[in-house]
Amino acid sequence: MTIFEKIIAREIPSSIVFENDDYIAFKDINPRAPVHVLCVPKKVSSRLDEISDPLELGMLYQTAIKVARGSCGLTDYRLAVNVGVGAGQIVFHTHIHILGGWTDLDAEKQHQDMAEG
Ligand code: AMP
Repeated sequence: MTIFEKIIAREIPSSIVFENDDYIAFKDINPRAPVHVLCVPKKVSSRLDEISDPLELGMLYQTAIKVARGSCGLTDYRLAVNVGVGAGQIVFHTHIHILGGWTDLDAEKQHQDMAEG
C-alpha cells in the first residue's frame, strides 16, 4: 500500500483540498512552491504511463485543472508529473503536482531554474 492509498483511506492525516468519488487532492508535505497540491486518482496505478485509457488520462488532467483553478484559486500554475525514478518520482501512485502562487519575481526564477534543468 502506498502512502497515498493510506491518505485516501484516512490512515494517515493530510490536508485535503478536494475530493470526489474518483480523485483526491491534498497539500504536498514538502512544498516546492507557495501553493503545492497533489492531484491523485483513487484508482491505483503506479505511474502516469500505466494509464492507457485516454478518457482516464483526460479526466485526471481535467480534475487537476479544476483543483488548480477552483480549490487552489490559481489562474497561473504549473502541472508536473514525474514518471519513474530517473525523473524524480518517489511515490509510486500516479499523481499530478499542481504548483503556483508565485510572485512575478519567483516565477522568473522558477522559469530560469527549469530552463537550466
Ligand atoms: P514524486 O516525486 O512526483 O513522486 O512526488 C511525491 C510527492 O509526495 C513529493 O513532493 C512529497 O513531498 C509528497 N509526499 C510524500 N509523502 C506525503 C504525505 N504524507 N503527504 C503529502 N505529500 C507527501
